[in-house]
Amino acid sequence: MKFQRESGAIVSNSESILHLVMGDPGKVEFPEEVIWSLHKQAPGCVYSLAHVHPPQMPQLSGRDKTTMRAWARAMFPFPIRMTTITELPTDDPFGYEGNNYFVFLETCYMANLEAKETWEARGKEGTRTINIQEEWQKKHRIILPSHKFFPPWHGTFLVEMSYQDVDKR
Ligand SMILES: [Zn+2]
Repeated sequence: MKFQRESGAIVSNSESILHLVMGDPGKVEFPEEVIWSLHKQAPGCVYSLAHVHPPQMPQLSGRDKTTMRAWARAMFPFPIRMTTITELPTDDPFGYEGNNYFVFLETCYMANLEAKETWEARGKEGTRTINIQEEWQKKHRIILPSHKFFPPWHGTFLVEMSYQDVDKR
């Protein structure tokens, strides 16, 4: 199994995929019009911008942070989250119950624009700040190819979009 390119999904708060995006080896661009129209239809429905990173890269890129800051401003008072999905070394070389399984780390970051009242209370110094912090992390063992298994975690679909030869170790 080989990493080819990033891919992403706009994910709802019930963890369903609202929109899929194919990226390239170093980035994925979430379509602004789609995010904005989803948000306008149902404010708060866009839970996170999930995307697959190259192996062992859970941290946000500079570009990711720029994207989050822009959306935190646009969606205020709703926060915006971004999750990265990255492959970790498999912890069991013999597979999982005879199947090929892989370990992926999902890390969720949240960006919040400072409330206007807080900014005013501190004397309107500078502009309202945007705070990006890691919110939670989850490790997934996934079995590929996934079609036999239900219900798969949404990250499984993204891994299948981002990797080649998903049935091989
Ligand atoms: Zn990224």
